[in-house]
Amino acid sequence: MFIIVSKNYEDKMNLQAEIKSLFLNQQNNWIQLRDAIEQLNRVKTKQIKWDDNTYVTIQFNPSRITSTAANIDKKHLSERPCFLCEDNRPTDQMSIPFIKKYVILCNPFPILKNHLTIALHSHVPQRIRNKIGDMLILSERLDDYIVFYNGPKCGASAPDHFHFQAGLKSGVLQQEDNDLRSCMTIKSEDRGEAIELFEEVYQYLSSLQPNEEEPMMNVISYYEKGLYNINIFPRKQHRPTQYYNEGDAKILISPGALDMAGLLITVREEDFIKIDKSEIEDIYNQVSLPII
Ligand SMILES: [Zn+2]
Repeated sequence: MFIIVSKNYEDKMNLQAEIKSLFLNQQNNWIQLRDAIEQLNRVKTKQIKWDDNTYVTIQFNPSRITSTAANIDKKHLSERPCFLCEDNRPTDQMSIPFIKKYVILCNPFPILKNHLTIALHSHVPQRIRNKIGDMLILSERLDDYIVFYNGPKCGASAPDHFHFQAGLKSGVLQQEDNDLRSCMTIKSEDRGEAIELFEEVYQYLSSLQPNEEEPMMNVISYYEKGLYNINIFPRKQHRPTQYYNEGDAKILISPGALDMAGLLITVREEDFIKIDKSEIEDIYNQVSLPII
């Protein structure tokens, strides 16, 4: 009797299984991660719904304060040790190699279950254009996960070191275009075709923001039922005015890919309690770039 297992299938199984054991191992040996995952299991969430296809989940996650309030001006970045460079990573943080160019790491400030950071070996700026193919390979090999990308001015707290993130799939993160914010979706069985279509979208967005080094965007990709899915959230602003307000008018939200999809991260309990439909609509209006 012969059992034929395709190479591709084997790789996919191996990588997801390897990550599962990485988490088990790291939770035993890295106290910071164990505490963070225990905290994530206790976070409060609430759902606000417009209709069956339009809803957001609000998560109250105080440990995300460092990322939400991250200072990403060039001077600050050049003076701080980069937390994605190998020399500066926590000594307890282990890694799994991915296509010889990246390391897969457990994210010590999780928003999602099995929250991963996938960092390029070299310290080069966050630019998606030529890396979308890597993102699709990763999505296919991690088909229980969504893979996401935050542009350098769209939520990345290390815009000077190229990285993706990933976490287990959920409905709220796979929402496509709706009345709250725009989302351009690419679906294809063929990776090459998906890459070409992404390049077309990239060039179009570039023409709308000719002065940006990269058109402002967040990207979520996932692989499902033989299809590569890419959801692109075009952006026109990094943070909403609420972020900079003082007193009652302040809401500390700094949207990244997950927020754009529909999982809004609040780091202060007062924001979690008071945020309502009209504030959410207003925040999306400010940061999402409408595509006609
Ligand atoms: Zn770095």
